[in-house]
Amino acid sequence: MTDIPKLRGHHLICFHFFSGKGYNREFVENLRNTLEKIAEFGVEVSHGADDVCSRCPHLKGGICSYSDHSHDEIMEMDKFALRLLKETSGSKAKWHVIKQRIPEIFPLWLGKYCKKCLWEDVCEEDFLYRKLKYGKDPV
Ligand code: SF4
Repeated sequence: MTDIPKLRGHHLICFHFFSGKGYNREFVENLRNTLEKIAEFGVEVSHGADDVCSRCPHLKGGICSYSDHSHDEIMEMDKFALRLLKETSGSKAKWHVIKQRIPEIFPLWLGKYCKKCLWEDVCEEDFLYRKLKYGKDPV
């Protein structure tokens, strides 16, 4: 039996805009494989590091060490994402069901996190992201 992949709160939102880029090749391959499994089997909400963090060069000793304060900041971001999505750690969901909720919660997420995120230019490459941000595809 295949284990249901685990994602932390903010990844449940951000990965709807994955455009094939990431920290390195291993990270991207793992992320792509994880999303394929999630599309088939669904996702379990993790508390803290997830199946994508597990191949991230910034995960040290099980916590996110992207910057000095990243662990606390990202845990806070996860909490906010779960509140918006009405999910809790340990719950399971289908990816398409979560995706259906993204348009409704997107304005709050954009205002609070996307605008100060270093990855926003990468998300801008994604059609859904542009559609939600600008109301139509600007290209
Ligand atoms: S930067 Fe931090 S939250 Fe993002 S994938 Fe890496 S370990 Fe996880």
